Amino acid sequence: MNDSVNPSASSDENSDNSVLTNPTLVLNCGSSSIKYALISEDESTRITGLAENLGLDTARIKHTALNGEKLEIAIPGGRHKLALQKVLELLEQYHFIAVGHRGVHGGREYSEAVKVNDHVLSEVKRLKSLAPLHNPANALGIEAVQAIYPDIPQVVVFDTAFHQTMPPVAYRYPIPKALYEEEKIRRYGFHGTSHAYVSERASQLTEANDPQGWLTAHLGNGCSATAVYDGKSLDTSMGLTPLEGLMMGTRSGDVDPSLHIHLKRQLGMSLEDVDKMLNSESGLLGISGLSNDLRTVEQAANEGHKDAELAIEMFAYRVGKYLASLSCALPEFTGIVFTGGIGENSATTRARILNVMRHFGIAFDADKNKSLVGGAEGRFESDDSSIELWVIPTDEECQIAKETRQTLGLD
Ligand code: ADP
Repeated sequence: MNDSVNPSASSDENSDNSVLTNPTLVLNCGSSSIKYALISEDESTRITGLAENLGLDTARIKHTALNGEKLEIAIPGGRHKLALQKVLELLEQYHFIAVGHRGVHGGREYSEAVKVNDHVLSEVKRLKSLAPLHNPANALGIEAVQAIYPDIPQVVVFDTAFHQTMPPVAYRYPIPKALYEEEKIRRYGFHGTSHAYVSERASQLTEANDPQGWLTAHLGNGCSATAVYDGKSLDTSMGLTPLEGLMMGTRSGDVDPSLHIHLKRQLGMSLEDVDKMLNSESGLLGISGLSNDLRTVEQAANEGHKDAELAIEMFAYRVGKYLASLSCALPEFTGIVFTGGIGENSATTRARILNVMRHFGIAFDADKNKSLVGGAEGRFESDDSSIELWVIPTDEECQIAKETRQTLGLD
Protein backbone atom coordinates (compact mmCIF):
# COMPACT_ATOMS: atom_id res chain seq x y z
CA MET A 1 0.00 0.00 0.00
CA ASN A 2 1.68 3.14 -1.20
CA ASP A 3 0.25 5.41 1.48
CA SER A 4 1.53 3.28 4.35
CA VAL A 5 3.33 5.52 6.85
CA ASN A 6 5.21 2.55 8.19
CA PRO A 7 6.77 1.06 5.09
CA SER A 8 8.75 -1.51 7.04
CA ALA A 9 5.55 -3.28 8.01
CA SER A 10 4.29 -5.77 5.52
CA SER A 11 0.67 -6.02 4.48
CA ASP A 12 1.25 -9.67 3.73
CA GLU A 13 0.06 -10.85 7.10
CA ASN A 14 -1.53 -14.15 6.22
CA SER A 15 0.87 -16.47 7.92
CA ASP A 16 -1.96 -18.87 8.70
CA ASN A 17 -5.47 -18.17 7.49
CA SER A 18 -6.74 -21.49 8.77
CA VAL A 19 -6.94 -20.30 12.41
CA LEU A 20 -9.46 -17.63 11.45
CA THR A 21 -12.22 -19.99 10.43
CA ASN A 22 -15.46 -18.43 9.16
CA PRO A 23 -14.69 -15.06 10.76
CA THR A 24 -17.22 -12.35 11.55
CA LEU A 25 -16.17 -8.74 11.04
CA VAL A 26 -17.26 -6.46 13.88
CA LEU A 27 -17.39 -2.75 13.07
CA ASN A 28 -17.80 -0.01 15.65
CA CYS A 29 -18.12 3.18 13.62
CA GLY A 30 -18.03 6.36 15.70
CA SER A 31 -17.91 10.03 14.81
CA SER A 32 -14.10 10.23 14.74
CA SER A 33 -13.00 6.62 14.90
CA ILE A 34 -13.75 3.16 13.55
CA LYS A 35 -12.81 0.17 15.69
CA TYR A 36 -12.83 -3.20 14.01
CA ALA A 37 -12.24 -6.82 14.93
CA LEU A 38 -12.25 -9.94 12.82
CA ILE A 39 -13.23 -12.83 15.09
CA SER A 40 -13.06 -16.51 14.28
CA GLU A 41 -16.14 -18.71 14.58
CA ASP A 42 -14.84 -20.29 17.82
CA GLU A 43 -13.93 -16.81 19.20
CA SER A 44 -10.34 -17.94 19.87
CA THR A 45 -8.58 -15.75 17.29
CA ARG A 46 -8.97 -12.17 16.25
CA ILE A 47 -7.41 -9.40 14.22
CA THR A 48 -8.08 -5.91 15.53
CA GLY A 49 -7.54 -2.34 14.48
CA LEU A 50 -8.59 1.24 14.78
CA ALA A 51 -9.03 4.11 12.34
CA GLU A 52 -8.60 7.27 14.37
CA ASN A 53 -8.66 11.07 13.96
CA LEU A 54 -11.27 10.76 11.20
CA GLY A 55 -12.25 14.13 9.81
CA LEU A 56 -8.67 15.39 10.23
CA ASP A 57 -5.59 15.21 8.03
CA THR A 58 -3.87 13.16 10.71
CA ALA A 59 -6.35 10.30 10.23
CA ARG A 60 -4.77 6.86 10.11
CA ILE A 61 -5.50 3.19 10.52
CA LYS A 62 -3.58 1.29 13.19
CA HIS A 63 -3.84 -2.36 12.32
CA THR A 64 -2.53 -5.37 14.21
CA ALA A 65 -2.08 -8.34 11.91
CA LEU A 66 -2.62 -11.98 12.73
CA ASN A 67 1.11 -12.43 13.29
CA GLY A 68 1.19 -9.49 15.71
CA GLU A 69 2.81 -7.14 13.22
CA LYS A 70 1.70 -3.49 13.45
CA LEU A 71 0.78 -1.53 10.37
CA GLU A 72 -0.16 2.13 10.00
CA ILE A 73 -1.96 3.53 7.00
CA ALA A 74 -2.57 7.23 6.46
CA ILE A 75 -6.07 8.31 5.36
CA PRO A 76 -5.52 11.47 3.33
CA GLY A 77 -8.41 13.87 4.00
CA GLY A 78 -9.61 11.70 6.87
CA ARG A 79 -12.86 10.65 5.21
CA HIS A 80 -14.91 7.91 6.88
CA LYS A 81 -15.73 6.25 3.59
CA LEU A 82 -12.11 5.99 2.51
CA ALA A 83 -11.10 4.63 5.94
CA LEU A 84 -13.80 1.96 5.71
CA GLN A 85 -12.69 0.99 2.20
CA LYS A 86 -9.10 0.59 3.42
CA VAL A 87 -10.20 -1.49 6.42
CA LEU A 88 -12.21 -3.78 4.14
CA GLU A 89 -9.23 -4.08 1.76
CA LEU A 90 -6.97 -5.08 4.64
CA LEU A 91 -9.36 -7.81 5.78
CA GLU A 92 -10.56 -9.10 2.42
CA GLN A 93 -8.08 -11.97 2.35
CA TYR A 94 -9.75 -13.57 5.41
CA HIS A 95 -13.08 -14.08 3.65
CA PHE A 96 -15.34 -12.93 6.47
CA ILE A 97 -18.82 -14.42 6.25
CA ALA A 98 -20.83 -11.78 8.13
CA VAL A 99 -20.53 -8.24 9.45
CA GLY A 100 -21.83 -7.17 12.87
CA HIS A 101 -22.17 -3.45 13.59
CA ARG A 102 -22.28 -1.82 16.95
CA GLY A 103 -25.38 0.35 16.66
CA VAL A 104 -25.85 3.02 19.29
CA HIS A 105 -29.51 4.04 19.20
CA GLY A 106 -32.16 1.57 18.06
CA GLY A 107 -35.09 3.49 19.52
CA ARG A 108 -38.15 1.53 20.65
CA GLU A 109 -38.29 -0.86 17.75
CA TYR A 110 -35.28 -3.09 18.38
CA SER A 111 -35.10 -5.30 21.43
CA GLU A 112 -32.54 -7.63 19.91
CA ALA A 113 -29.91 -7.76 17.19
CA VAL A 114 -31.42 -7.35 13.72
CA LYS A 115 -30.38 -8.31 10.19
CA VAL A 116 -29.83 -5.27 8.00
CA ASN A 117 -32.38 -4.50 5.29
CA ASP A 118 -33.57 -1.22 3.77
CA HIS A 119 -35.97 -0.58 6.66
CA VAL A 120 -33.30 -1.15 9.32
CA LEU A 121 -30.88 1.15 7.52
CA SER A 122 -33.49 3.89 7.24
CA GLU A 123 -34.30 3.51 10.97
CA VAL A 124 -30.61 3.90 11.85
CA LYS A 125 -30.59 7.13 9.83
CA ARG A 126 -33.90 8.37 11.21
CA LEU A 127 -32.75 7.95 14.81
CA LYS A 128 -29.94 10.42 14.18
CA SER A 129 -31.85 12.94 16.28
CA LEU A 130 -31.31 10.75 19.36
CA ALA A 131 -27.65 9.89 18.69
CA PRO A 132 -26.28 12.60 16.40
CA LEU A 133 -22.65 11.56 16.74
CA HIS A 134 -23.09 7.84 16.32
CA ASN A 135 -26.03 6.82 14.13
CA PRO A 136 -24.83 8.60 10.95
CA ALA A 137 -21.44 6.88 11.31
CA ASN A 138 -23.20 3.50 11.81
CA ALA A 139 -25.18 4.09 8.59
CA LEU A 140 -21.98 4.91 6.67
CA GLY A 141 -20.44 1.64 7.88
CA ILE A 142 -23.44 -0.38 6.70
CA GLU A 143 -23.46 1.35 3.31
CA ALA A 144 -19.72 0.91 2.78
CA VAL A 145 -20.01 -2.86 3.28
CA GLN A 146 -23.15 -3.02 1.10
CA ALA A 147 -21.35 -1.22 -1.72
CA ILE A 148 -18.34 -3.53 -1.76
CA TYR A 149 -19.86 -6.83 -0.55
CA PRO A 150 -23.58 -6.74 -1.39
CA ASP A 151 -23.93 -10.47 -0.67
CA ILE A 152 -22.41 -10.54 2.80
CA PRO A 153 -25.14 -10.45 5.47
CA GLN A 154 -24.97 -7.64 8.02
CA VAL A 155 -26.44 -7.34 11.50
CA VAL A 156 -26.79 -4.37 13.84
CA VAL A 157 -26.46 -4.92 17.58
CA PHE A 158 -27.88 -1.81 19.23
CA ASP A 159 -26.54 -0.50 22.55
CA THR A 160 -30.14 0.20 23.51
CA ALA A 161 -31.53 -3.28 22.69
CA PHE A 162 -30.51 -5.04 25.92
CA HIS A 163 -32.41 -2.44 27.95
CA GLN A 164 -35.72 -2.96 26.13
CA THR A 165 -36.71 -5.36 28.93
CA MET A 166 -36.94 -2.43 31.38
CA PRO A 167 -40.45 -2.01 32.77
CA PRO A 168 -42.33 1.30 32.26
CA VAL A 169 -41.71 2.22 35.88
CA ALA A 170 -38.01 2.41 35.02
CA TYR A 171 -38.09 3.70 31.45
CA ARG A 172 -40.74 6.45 31.64
CA TYR A 173 -39.92 10.00 32.71
CA PRO A 174 -42.47 11.72 34.94
CA ILE A 175 -43.43 14.19 32.19
CA PRO A 176 -46.65 14.52 30.12
CA LYS A 177 -47.74 11.26 28.51
CA ALA A 178 -48.01 12.75 25.02
CA LEU A 179 -44.26 13.28 24.90
CA TYR A 180 -43.79 9.56 25.31
CA GLU A 181 -46.55 8.51 22.95
CA GLU A 182 -45.90 11.02 20.19
CA GLU A 183 -42.21 11.80 20.53
CA LYS A 184 -40.88 8.57 22.09
CA ILE A 185 -39.32 10.51 24.94
CA ARG A 186 -38.32 7.81 27.41
CA ARG A 187 -35.26 6.25 28.92
CA TYR A 188 -33.44 3.87 26.55
CA GLY A 189 -30.11 3.08 28.23
CA PHE A 190 -26.78 2.40 26.52
CA HIS A 191 -23.67 0.18 26.77
CA GLY A 192 -26.16 -2.71 26.50
CA THR A 193 -23.68 -5.00 24.77
CA SER A 194 -21.19 -4.61 27.59
CA HIS A 195 -23.78 -5.02 30.37
CA ALA A 196 -25.13 -8.12 28.58
CA TYR A 197 -21.66 -9.63 28.18
CA VAL A 198 -20.40 -9.13 31.74
CA SER A 199 -23.66 -10.13 33.44
CA GLU A 200 -23.83 -13.30 31.35
CA ARG A 201 -20.20 -14.05 32.16
CA ALA A 202 -20.81 -13.48 35.90
CA SER A 203 -23.74 -15.90 35.73
CA GLN A 204 -21.45 -18.50 34.12
CA LEU A 205 -18.72 -18.02 36.73
CA THR A 206 -20.75 -17.85 39.94
CA GLU A 207 -21.92 -20.80 41.96
CA ALA A 208 -24.98 -18.84 43.15
CA ASN A 209 -28.37 -20.34 42.43
CA ASP A 210 -30.49 -19.08 39.54
CA PRO A 211 -31.92 -16.54 39.03
CA GLN A 212 -29.21 -14.04 39.90
CA GLY A 213 -29.34 -10.29 40.25
CA TRP A 214 -26.29 -8.27 39.24
CA LEU A 215 -25.40 -4.62 39.30
CA THR A 216 -23.00 -4.10 36.40
CA ALA A 217 -20.83 -0.99 36.50
CA HIS A 218 -19.33 -0.13 33.12
CA LEU A 219 -16.79 2.57 33.98
CA GLY A 220 -14.78 3.82 31.01
CA ASN A 221 -14.76 7.21 29.34
CA GLY A 222 -18.50 6.76 29.19
CA CYS A 223 -19.95 5.26 32.38
CA SER A 224 -23.21 3.51 33.14
CA ALA A 225 -24.62 1.04 35.64
CA THR A 226 -27.37 -1.52 35.11
CA ALA A 227 -29.52 -3.77 37.27
CA VAL A 228 -29.70 -7.18 35.55
CA TYR A 229 -31.99 -9.89 36.92
CA ASP A 230 -32.25 -13.33 35.37
CA GLY A 231 -30.37 -12.07 32.30
CA LYS A 232 -32.67 -9.07 31.76
CA SER A 233 -31.99 -5.37 32.22
CA LEU A 234 -34.50 -3.97 34.73
CA ASP A 235 -33.09 -0.47 35.09
CA THR A 236 -30.03 1.47 33.99
CA SER A 237 -28.41 4.82 34.66
CA MET A 238 -28.34 6.30 31.12
CA GLY A 239 -31.58 7.61 29.65
CA LEU A 240 -32.87 9.18 26.45
CA THR A 241 -29.25 9.99 25.61
CA PRO A 242 -25.92 8.78 27.03
CA LEU A 243 -25.66 11.92 29.20
CA GLU A 244 -27.92 10.86 32.07
CA GLY A 245 -26.62 9.06 35.13
CA LEU A 246 -23.06 8.67 36.35
CA MET A 247 -20.29 11.25 36.22
CA MET A 248 -17.99 10.35 33.30
CA GLY A 249 -14.72 11.43 31.66
CA THR A 250 -16.12 14.59 30.09
CA ARG A 251 -19.88 14.13 30.68
CA SER A 252 -21.62 15.48 33.76
CA GLY A 253 -24.21 12.76 34.22
CA ASP A 254 -27.20 13.90 36.31
CA VAL A 255 -27.63 17.62 36.94
CA ASP A 256 -30.68 19.65 37.84
CA PRO A 257 -32.86 19.75 34.69
CA SER A 258 -33.28 23.48 35.28
CA LEU A 259 -29.60 24.09 34.71
CA HIS A 260 -30.14 24.90 31.01
CA ILE A 261 -32.68 27.64 31.67
CA HIS A 262 -30.70 29.00 34.60
CA LEU A 263 -27.51 29.32 32.55
CA LYS A 264 -29.45 30.86 29.69
CA ARG A 265 -30.97 33.47 31.99
CA GLN A 266 -27.85 34.18 34.01
CA LEU A 267 -25.10 33.91 31.41
CA GLY A 268 -26.95 34.07 28.11
CA MET A 269 -25.65 30.63 27.15
CA SER A 270 -27.42 28.97 24.23
CA LEU A 271 -28.86 25.45 24.50
CA GLU A 272 -26.03 24.26 22.24
CA ASP A 273 -23.42 25.86 24.54
CA VAL A 274 -24.90 24.14 27.59
CA ASP A 275 -25.14 20.82 25.74
CA LYS A 276 -21.49 21.05 24.71
CA MET A 277 -20.45 22.00 28.24
CA LEU A 278 -22.31 19.05 29.78
CA ASN A 279 -21.04 16.54 27.20
CA SER A 280 -17.47 17.65 26.58
CA GLU A 281 -16.26 19.91 29.38
CA SER A 282 -17.65 18.31 32.52
CA GLY A 283 -17.13 15.09 34.50
CA LEU A 284 -13.59 14.23 35.65
CA LEU A 285 -12.24 16.90 33.28
CA GLY A 286 -14.57 19.62 34.51
CA ILE A 287 -13.95 19.03 38.22
CA SER A 288 -10.20 18.34 38.09
CA GLY A 289 -9.54 21.00 35.47
CA LEU A 290 -6.84 18.62 34.23
CA SER A 291 -8.00 15.66 32.20
CA ASN A 292 -10.77 13.20 31.43
CA ASP A 293 -8.26 10.37 31.91
CA LEU A 294 -8.49 8.91 35.40
CA ARG A 295 -4.79 7.95 35.37
CA THR A 296 -3.78 11.60 35.02
CA VAL A 297 -6.29 12.68 37.66
CA GLU A 298 -5.12 9.94 40.08
CA GLN A 299 -1.50 10.94 39.64
CA ALA A 300 -2.30 14.60 40.35
CA ALA A 301 -4.35 13.62 43.41
CA ASN A 302 -1.41 11.59 44.71
CA GLU A 303 0.69 14.73 44.40
CA GLY A 304 -1.83 16.69 46.50
CA HIS A 305 -3.90 18.38 43.76
CA LYS A 306 -7.16 19.24 45.61
CA ASP A 307 -9.45 19.46 42.58
CA ALA A 308 -8.16 16.11 41.35
CA GLU A 309 -8.92 14.58 44.76
CA LEU A 310 -12.43 16.00 44.66
CA ALA A 311 -12.99 14.70 41.12
CA ILE A 312 -12.13 11.16 42.22
CA GLU A 313 -14.24 11.39 45.39
CA MET A 314 -17.21 12.71 43.44
CA PHE A 315 -16.84 10.04 40.76
CA ALA A 316 -16.85 7.25 43.35
CA TYR A 317 -19.63 8.82 45.43
CA ARG A 318 -21.90 9.16 42.43
CA VAL A 319 -21.26 5.58 41.26
CA GLY A 320 -21.89 4.22 44.78
CA LYS A 321 -25.05 6.28 45.17
CA TYR A 322 -26.37 5.06 41.81
CA LEU A 323 -25.55 1.42 42.52
CA ALA A 324 -27.35 1.70 45.85
CA SER A 325 -30.46 3.08 44.18
CA LEU A 326 -30.35 0.59 41.28
CA SER A 327 -30.28 -2.26 43.80
CA CYS A 328 -33.97 -1.42 44.41
CA ALA A 329 -34.74 -2.84 40.96
CA LEU A 330 -33.37 -6.28 41.86
CA PRO A 331 -35.58 -8.93 43.50
CA GLU A 332 -32.31 -10.63 44.49
CA PHE A 333 -28.87 -8.99 44.89
CA THR A 334 -26.17 -11.51 43.98
CA GLY A 335 -23.29 -9.16 43.34
CA ILE A 336 -21.59 -6.24 41.62
CA VAL A 337 -19.55 -6.59 38.43
CA PHE A 338 -16.96 -3.93 37.56
CA THR A 339 -15.84 -3.44 33.96
CA GLY A 340 -14.54 -0.79 31.49
CA GLY A 341 -11.12 0.88 31.61
CA ILE A 342 -11.66 2.25 35.14
CA GLY A 343 -13.65 -0.70 36.48
CA GLU A 344 -11.05 -3.17 35.23
CA ASN A 345 -7.95 -1.25 36.28
CA SER A 346 -8.47 1.14 39.17
CA ALA A 347 -8.58 -0.93 42.37
CA THR A 348 -8.60 2.25 44.45
CA THR A 349 -11.71 3.53 42.66
CA ARG A 350 -13.46 0.19 43.21
CA ALA A 351 -12.57 0.37 46.90
CA ARG A 352 -13.88 3.95 47.18
CA ILE A 353 -17.16 3.02 45.48
CA LEU A 354 -17.71 0.08 47.82
CA ASN A 355 -16.96 2.25 50.83
CA VAL A 356 -19.74 4.59 49.71
CA MET A 357 -22.12 1.59 49.94
CA ARG A 358 -21.07 0.83 53.52
CA HIS A 359 -24.57 -0.02 54.80
CA PHE A 360 -24.90 -3.01 52.46
CA GLY A 361 -22.69 -5.40 54.42
CA ILE A 362 -20.19 -5.56 51.57
CA ALA A 363 -16.68 -6.68 52.56
CA PHE A 364 -13.73 -7.23 50.25
CA ASP A 365 -10.22 -8.60 50.31
CA ALA A 366 -7.92 -5.61 49.68
CA ASP A 367 -5.11 -7.73 48.22
CA LYS A 368 -7.42 -9.60 45.88
CA ASN A 369 -8.90 -6.28 44.77
CA LYS A 370 -5.43 -4.91 44.01
CA SER A 371 -4.49 -8.03 42.03
CA LEU A 372 -7.44 -7.65 39.64
CA VAL A 373 -6.02 -5.18 37.11
CA GLY A 374 -4.77 -5.20 33.53
CA GLY A 375 -7.34 -7.54 32.04
CA ALA A 376 -7.55 -10.00 34.95
CA GLU A 377 -10.92 -11.63 35.65
CA GLY A 378 -11.90 -12.72 39.16
CA ARG A 379 -13.82 -12.07 42.35
CA PHE A 380 -12.63 -10.20 45.40
CA GLU A 381 -15.25 -10.20 48.16
CA SER A 382 -14.24 -11.64 51.53
CA ASP A 383 -16.05 -14.54 53.21
CA ASP A 384 -18.23 -12.30 55.38
CA SER A 385 -19.51 -10.20 52.46
CA SER A 386 -23.26 -9.96 51.84
CA ILE A 387 -22.76 -10.07 48.06
CA GLU A 388 -20.23 -11.22 45.45
CA LEU A 389 -17.79 -8.75 43.86
CA TRP A 390 -16.40 -9.39 40.39
CA VAL A 391 -14.04 -7.75 37.93
CA ILE A 392 -14.88 -8.97 34.42
CA PRO A 393 -13.11 -7.37 31.45
CA THR A 394 -15.75 -6.47 28.91
CA ASP A 395 -15.62 -7.83 25.37
CA GLU A 396 -18.17 -5.99 23.30
CA GLU A 397 -16.65 -7.21 20.03
CA CYS A 398 -17.05 -10.85 21.06
CA GLN A 399 -20.64 -10.23 22.15
CA ILE A 400 -21.47 -8.50 18.83
CA ALA A 401 -19.86 -11.35 16.84
CA LYS A 402 -21.86 -13.90 18.86
CA GLU A 403 -25.17 -12.06 18.44
CA THR A 404 -24.43 -11.60 14.73
CA ARG A 405 -23.89 -15.33 14.22
CA GLN A 406 -27.01 -16.13 16.27
CA THR A 407 -29.17 -13.66 14.34
CA LEU A 408 -28.03 -15.17 11.03
CA GLY A 409 -28.44 -18.75 12.27
CA LEU A 410 -24.72 -19.42 11.81
CA ASP A 411 -24.09 -20.84 15.32
P1 ADP B 1 -13.93 3.94 26.40
O1 ADP B 1 -15.21 4.28 27.10
O2 ADP B 1 -13.42 5.03 25.52
O3 ADP B 1 -13.92 2.56 25.77
P2 ADP B 1 -12.15 2.75 28.35
O4 ADP B 1 -13.08 1.66 28.75
O5 ADP B 1 -10.91 2.38 27.62
O6 ADP B 1 -12.87 3.91 27.58
O7 ADP B 1 -11.74 3.51 29.71
C1 ADP B 1 -10.97 4.66 29.70
C2 ADP B 1 -10.75 5.08 31.13
O8 ADP B 1 -10.09 4.03 31.84
C3 ADP B 1 -9.88 6.32 31.27
O9 ADP B 1 -10.41 7.19 32.26
C4 ADP B 1 -8.57 5.75 31.78
O10 ADP B 1 -7.88 6.66 32.57
C5 ADP B 1 -9.05 4.59 32.62
N1 ADP B 1 -7.97 3.65 32.86
C6 ADP B 1 -7.36 2.83 31.98
N2 ADP B 1 -6.32 2.19 32.58
C7 ADP B 1 -6.28 2.61 33.86
C8 ADP B 1 -5.46 2.34 35.00
N3 ADP B 1 -4.46 1.49 34.92
N4 ADP B 1 -5.73 3.00 36.16
C9 ADP B 1 -6.74 3.88 36.24
N5 ADP B 1 -7.56 4.18 35.22
C10 ADP B 1 -7.34 3.56 34.05
